[in-house]
Amino acid sequence: MNTAELLAQVRQRNPHEPEFLQAAQEVIESIAPVFEKHPEFARLKILERMLEPERMISFRVTWQDDRGEVHVNRGYRVQMNSAIGPYKGGLRFHPSVNASVLKFLAFEQIFKNALTGVPMGGGKGGSDFDPKGKSDNEVMHFCQAFMSELARHISHRMDVPAGDIGVGAREIGYMFGAYKKIKNEFTGVFTGKGIGWGGSLIRTEATGYGLIYFAENMLQAKGDSIKGKTCLVSGSGNVAQYAIEKIIHLGGKAVTASDSNGFIYDENGITQEKLEFIKDLKNNRRGRIQEYAEKFTCSYTATDPNADHNPLWSVPAQCAFPCATQNELNGKDAKNLIQNGVKLVAEGANMPTTIEGINAFIDQGVLYAPGKASNAGGVATSGLEMTQNYMGANWSREEVDARLRSIMKDIHEASLKAAQKFGKPDNYLVGANIAGFIKVANAMQAQGVI
Ligand code: NDP
Repeated sequence: MNTAELLAQVRQRNPHEPEFLQAAQEVIESIAPVFEKHPEFARLKILERMLEPERMISFRVTWQDDRGEVHVNRGYRVQMNSAIGPYKGGLRFHPSVNASVLKFLAFEQIFKNALTGVPMGGGKGGSDFDPKGKSDNEVMHFCQAFMSELARHISHRMDVPAGDIGVGAREIGYMFGAYKKIKNEFTGVFTGKGIGWGGSLIRTEATGYGLIYFAENMLQAKGDSIKGKTCLVSGSGNVAQYAIEKIIHLGGKAVTASDSNGFIYDENGITQEKLEFIKDLKNNRRGRIQEYAEKFTCSYTATDPNADHNPLWSVPAQCAFPCATQNELNGKDAKNLIQNGVKLVAEGANMPTTIEGINAFIDQGVLYAPGKASNAGGVATSGLEMTQNYMGANWSREEVDARLRSIMKDIHEASLKAAQKFGKPDNYLVGANIAGFIKVANAMQAQGVI
């Protein structure tokens, strides 16, 4: 089956799933050259198998709010591929969550996890529950209700969830507690746990730090560095906060941060002190980013999710790090960034750039890193947390950080090498997809037709 036929088949099998189809198209088109060198992968229908979840669970979550009102949400777990290890991938709580969004995330996770070199399969899950505006008590009741079903389908050797949008330390604590109560066992069934109860140092920072380590590797390969560069960051959650922190550590200047209502532009740069304000605002007070502009007197622009472009990407800068959500940077945004001389775009979020935007960057020679390579530091460190749990060990901050740096360097090298080998030098998209694919394909071939 050729690329066009496979794409048509995937579209026909997964109608009404635009996000999943977008992620599938990007991979199908970019790994086409592999099948010329490896006809056995085509004969064994390896890619067709990867595009079909091994198992997908959907369930009802019923819970009561503080006023006693009953709510019904939908929960999911997509167990996409277990060829190289237990299913691994985060849980997302956001009203936009549906089967399409989770299938796209679980599909991307297969390749990302393979790239880390840690043995982990691909999975993802979550709910259309919106934690925003809910009390701690309500979030706890929801997490307990969610886990009362999910607990049957996960375990530390089979499927190990983590956080994602809307699921941070608070939610993981409540879900881990509920799992432990139901199963009567203390195991590393979640990653992102608290430091005193099985968590790993650096896991909180890992995705953002890893992203900037990866970007620094990309720039160094061109004899350049992040030092002195003006950087745009979108989002103000976990990934954005630690991306900004590492940009500061490496001498760059981060000038933006955003949430779903708008973005701040701080021409003077976000300092560590200002970043601490963002962390407190978002992680403890759960406020809006607009407060930053009021506190530090800088510009704030409200954004409209239905607009044809996002004005954050019109701010002049040399580096851009989309760290909020999928499809937050489209073809028009890419043109604006290119016009302003952007040199590097590295994705902290999953699939934040549309296919049109990606093509614009690659055509114009902008260094572009897909999230499955550049944001893999989070899941890689989750893998390190799992290893520590299996061993009963606690590694130091320095040790985990050194391993994270080394993993990001290896992913960078593996992506560049695969891109070169398959005739697309410097194309990190092709390189990351191919390097991840071949690793999982080899395992699937060895394990037979299952
Ligand atoms: P958080 O929930 O901590 O933060 C998400 C941020 O993005 C918030 O600022 C949020 O604003 C904003 N956002 C979310 N949805 C939208 C939307 N529809 N439109 C505009 N803004 C939005 O999540 P994370 O930082 O953990 O995740 C961010 C991205 O990184 C996601 O794509 C996630 O899949 C990816 N990722 C996360 C990893 C991790 O370790 N956490 C690992 C690898 C990838 P608001 O507060 O207004 O909702």
